[in-house]
Order: sequence, then C-alpha cells, then structure tokens
Amino acid sequence: MHKFDNSFLANTYGRLPISFSHGEGMWLYAEDGKKYLDMLGGVAVNTLGHSHPQFIAGLKDQIQKLIHTSNYYFIKEQQLLAKELVSITKMKSVFFSNSGCEANEAAIKFARLYGSKKKITEPEIIVMENSFHGRTMATLTATGNRKAQAGFEPLLKGFMRVAFDDIPSIQNIAKSKNNVIAIMLEPIQGEGGINTPHNIENYLAELRKICDENDWLLILDEVQTGIGRTGKFFAFQHSKIIPDILSSAKGLGSGVPIGATLINEKVSNVIEPGKHGSTFGGNPLACRAGNLTIKILQDNKLQQNAMIMGKKLLNLLSMQLKSKGYIKEIRGLGLMIGIEFTVSCYQLMSMALSKGLLINVTSERVVRLVPPLIIGEEEISYFMQQFELLLKDFEKEVVNG
Ligand code: PLP
Repeated sequence: MHKFDNSFLANTYGRLPISFSHGEGMWLYAEDGKKYLDMLGGVAVNTLGHSHPQFIAGLKDQIQKLIHTSNYYFIKEQQLLAKELVSITKMKSVFFSNSGCEANEAAIKFARLYGSKKKITEPEIIVMENSFHGRTMATLTATGNRKAQAGFEPLLKGFMRVAFDDIPSIQNIAKSKNNVIAIMLEPIQGEGGINTPHNIENYLAELRKICDENDWLLILDEVQTGIGRTGKFFAFQHSKIIPDILSSAKGLGSGVPIGATLINEKVSNVIEPGKHGSTFGGNPLACRAGNLTIKILQDNKLQQNAMIMGKKLLNLLSMQLKSKGYIKEIRGLGLMIGIEFTVSCYQLMSMALSKGLLINVTSERVVRLVPPLIIGEEEISYFMQQFELLLKDFEKEVVNG
C-alpha cells in the first residue's frame, strides 16, 4: 500500500503529503529522514515537544503498572491530577474526559444542570462569533462557524451568539432576557484566527461582573489557551477573576488524550453520581500523562519560557514583516501567535514543507503558530530565516503571480 493511500479512511481531513517516523524535541523526522521544525505542536498538544525523556520514562513506568481500570474504583493518578489542577486554579473539583469537545460538552451539561436547579426550563448560553468548541452536536452548536455546522442541522436549541470582545451586546441581553444561564468563550480564540480581546484582563473582569450580577455562569474554554501556552498556566490568570467552569484538553496530556472540566463550588454542588460519565475519562495512563506534563512544565519553567520566547517571536515577526503590504496584523500572547494576511494563505502550509517548517493556517488568512513550550532561541532564529524564504516564494507565486 502506498504510504499516502487513504482509501480505507473516512474522508474527513485534507492532509499534506507527508508522514513522520519519529520526533525529538522541537523536530519531527519524515520517513525519508528529512527534519522539520514543528511550529504546530500537534495543534497546541505537544507541550513538551517530542520524545521528552522524563515524560517517556514516566509513561513507560505507568504502562508497565496500569493503563486502565474503571471509574467504578478510586484512581490514584486521577486524584493527584485533580488536586494539582484545583490548586493551580483555586476551583473546586474536576471531571475527566478524553478530548476538548468532551470537556466542553460536560461544561454545557453542568451549566444546564445548574440552570435546571434554578427552575430555568428553556436555558440559553451566550456564545461568541468565530468561536470553536468542538464537533459534537452541543459543541458544534456553540461553535461560531457556519461552514463547520452546515449539513448537521438541526442544531441544538439554547445558544445565542454575540461578537467576541463586545460587552455592550451582552449587557443588552442581560436587560431583556431571564433565561440565560451562562456565557461561554475562549479567552483568546484559536481556530477563529488567534483573536485576542483588546484587553484580556478588563474583558474577563467585565464578563465576570455581568455573570455575578445576573447569577450566570462564566465558562472558559481553555482547551487551546491552557497549560502554559499564553505565559500563565491558564489564560484567565492574566486577569484577577476565576471562572465558574473551565475546560482543558490538548496540551494537558502532551499527546496522550485527556480532557478536564474544572468546576467551582456552586457547580460542584449540583453534581451527583450518575449525572455524567466516561468509560476512559481520567484513566491511570491519561492522568499520569497529565501529572508528568505539569511537573515537567513547572520544573523547567516552561510557562515563563512560553512568555519570553513568545514575546521574542512576536517582536521579530513584527519587525521583519511590517513592510509587507499583504500582512494585516501580527498578534497573540505567549506561544499562541497569529499572522493575519490580507489574502488567503492556505497554500503556505504545503509550501512550508520545502523550507523544513510545519505551520498551520486557520480561518483562511491566519498563519497560526502554537509550537511546543520548549522552543529556544536557536529554533526561533531558524524559523525566522526559513519563514522569510517562504514568504519570498509566496510573493512570487501568489502576491505577484
Ligand atoms: N475548544 C477549543 C478552544 C479548541 O481549540 C478545540 C480544538 O481545536 C476544541 C475545543 C476541541 O477539541 P478536540 O478536538 O480535542 O475535541
């Protein structure tokens, strides 16, 4: 079978003609031996890069002992990870699942349960334009992308949409509606094009205030922004607020699938056995991966590294690209950086392969950089040099072509 033969796979992805045999640190190695700088990190997943020795040793140890038992029993690794996440966030408890959409699905269900205890029978959750929360029916409905939703109607009831970073329209809803139970958003929108609020601290503070005044829940989807990526463990920590519900996944297991929904005390109080569950959720292997990720991240100050290297990368990009007319904006926080073009730039993903780079384009015009948090100065220099060459090709082929 040809290595790029996908005849037996459902046709859900457009893929680049490359596959990798192994990885080390910031680098992925293709089957022909050529190496690529991984500026995508499995879409903000490979927090520790590839084949991190301490991570591998810990996982090996866990696999030899125990991979899976059942949530019918106590699970030590799950308790440890929950305790760690609670201590980092000052929230109350954690529900474990296996992915970002599941973490958000649980967030939506818990919010509805909380609403039902308040006797709200037709609850609505305020969600944002250009948001991305996942592909299950509830999270797809919450997602602000008509293309992703098309063909899957009927969507769920109970969601209303406002623009991101727009407080007045939420204040208007608060004046006119009495069935709202929550606001759900990403503190920085990932798939939607690395959209950052004008002032993340003020935006979250305003949202918190509206939620408190109206007894709504503030749900933060930190699936992409979490685990040190923006320079804080969670992006909400750039502000002084604490959300009521927070979802995490992606980078939490450094590649081992895991999702987590963190809840505060008042949400914890409405949950009881039998209300929600997951066969795999929080199994010993996934939680060990989570515990190892957090330990290695803290021991090596990777959050701080994300902040420092992110600033450096953002500055270099701003300097190097400022004269290019087809670049609209460069933005982001920590190692979550978007370069917005004035034209479609999807082709950059495949063109980048010839320059030894793995990059991603989201929302058609935004190059998204979400590399592992271990990135160093040398790799940033390499990236800048190769990206410049890539843009030269892009100018020849697309801008002037
Ligand atoms: N929420 C956010 C903010 C995301 O970026 C994603 C994935 O890109 C998801 C949820 C869905 O996560 P998953 O693909 O693990 O279901």
